[in-house]
Amino acid sequence: MENELIDRYGRKLDYLRLSVTDRCNFRCYYCMPEEGMDFVQRKALLTYEELDYLTGIFVKLGVTKIRITGGEPFVRKGIMDFFTKLRQHQDLREITLTSNGSISEDQIQQLKHLGIKKINISLDALDKQRFFEITRRDKFDEVFHCILTLLKQGFYVKLNCVVDGNKNIADIIPFVQLTADYPLAVRFLEEMPFNGTGKFEIPEWNHLALYDYIASHFPEIQKIQDGKNSTSVNYQIPGYQGTFGIIPAFSRTFCGTCNRIRLSATGELRTCLYGPPVTNLRDILRAGANEESIITEIRNAVAKKEKDGFKAEELNSKTPKKSMSFLGG
Ligand code: SAM
Repeated sequence: MENELIDRYGRKLDYLRLSVTDRCNFRCYYCMPEEGMDFVQRKALLTYEELDYLTGIFVKLGVTKIRITGGEPFVRKGIMDFFTKLRQHQDLREITLTSNGSISEDQIQQLKHLGIKKINISLDALDKQRFFEITRRDKFDEVFHCILTLLKQGFYVKLNCVVDGNKNIADIIPFVQLTADYPLAVRFLEEMPFNGTGKFEIPEWNHLALYDYIASHFPEIQKIQDGKNSTSVNYQIPGYQGTFGIIPAFSRTFCGTCNRIRLSATGELRTCLYGPPVTNLRDILRAGANEESIITEIRNAVAKKEKDGFKAEELNSKTPKKSMSFLGG
């Protein structure tokens, strides 16, 4: 179809993950080293005008949903004006965002005003000390307050919790219990090899282990319907307000229904998190390419999308894995 992005396996890519910065005010161990992060220079980042222009092209190509991510989107100056701009793309049905909870009350009000309803917040522990060990920042209270404010203001909030056998197993059951009283969707993620250090161990707490552990504590666990392109396999404890899900982010069992394409803050276009960038739209744009050439470039990238994250990773085997903050989570 003229205005759709369909890959050679028949998957329609209509969901853009757009990173607006590689910088972050947290230092989560699974995402980046504690010190020595080499953040890119400002001029290497796509400007808001460029981000908006490229978004417009993706929308013309059938993208209907966008997730703003990073780095931490709320550390980039002018982010609220950018959201306002994005709102003007008529065919963009959904604008969502992922944050570590560094959103002020004023910004929450503005997001509400803009009609942004769905927000994912990263939270890997309900225990303050473990939160600190994971994020290397003493910010639990602020993040939890942000979550409660979002709920109070009627946002649909998902919590992303990366599970590690040495770090936060003690938080898993409390997270499920949290869904008793709050209409949250907690999602437990397998850790992926994007911590920017070059070191990684295959997660023992994979999706199967996670399910068994939770089911052994909650025998009444019920499977609920997953969304069409959902990466999480979702459950609920009967009578609880919220739900929870497990995301096999490392096991990659969901690639068959993948509808995502990613643009990093420096313009790298990826059709899979595990694969190398297929092209750099910033460079092409700054070299003076017109809309038609950019569309051709995007279509060519989509045509090469690999069957799954394992195949994509094979193309990337010689390059050290980058920080998720740079890739755009
Ligand atoms: N700063 C925002 C945040 O903290 O949510 C957005 C960017 S962050 C890179 C996006 C998501 O990627 C977060 O939910 C985070 O937990 C997840 N993430 C980062 N590194 C990961 C890794 N190595 N494995 C699994 N998930 C990871």
